[in-house]
Amino acid sequence: MNTIQIKDKSFTTFLPEEQILKEVTRVAEEINRDLAGTNPLFISVLNGSFMFTADLMKRLTIPCEVSFVKLASYEGTSTTGKVKELVGLNDDIEGRTVVIVEDIIDTGLTMQRLLETLRARNPKEIRIATLLVKPDKLKVELPINYVAMNIPNDFIVGYGLDYDGLGRNYRDIYTVIE
Ligand code: 5GP
Repeated sequence: MNTIQIKDKSFTTFLPEEQILKEVTRVAEEINRDLAGTNPLFISVLNGSFMFTADLMKRLTIPCEVSFVKLASYEGTSTTGKVKELVGLNDDIEGRTVVIVEDIIDTGLTMQRLLETLRARNPKEIRIATLLVKPDKLKVELPINYVAMNIPNDFIVGYGLDYDGLGRNYRDIYTVIE
């Protein structure tokens, strides 16, 4: 067990790199099998999913493309509250098989919003590939096709995920020590 300190919080090793990569390899094999012949477009949601996306792409053997988007948060009107707007998608996705690549699905509200935005552009099909899901926190029904790992509700960092901008560089995933 390795302990790290980021700002005011301590974290301990939760998922070692070896275990993460084993599950990423399994997900890649599922995608290679399911999406052969569809030339899927992988849409990676920055910043958190950059490491997962890289490791996943290295294991895909089918013809495919990748693009990167960001969800920019801004204060909406008093009725809508915080709004997350999709930025950076320049590809025409009409009629295409799209796979959203996310780092973590917590309540699922971010993913639900992203799905609505992408569906409006008339893709043939949208699939979701996520590194992590916190099933006990999920508030909405989502068509999550590929999950590397289900995890408990605790806050985690590493392997692309941050605490206040820090910790994305770690190879392993760490969980907060209360
Ligand atoms: P949701 O809309 O599903 O509730 O939130 C998803 C987003 O919350 C993720 O993309 C991620 O940015 C953030 N998030 C949720 N849980 C965690 C966590 O345990 N650690 C980190 N670093 N980010 C998290």
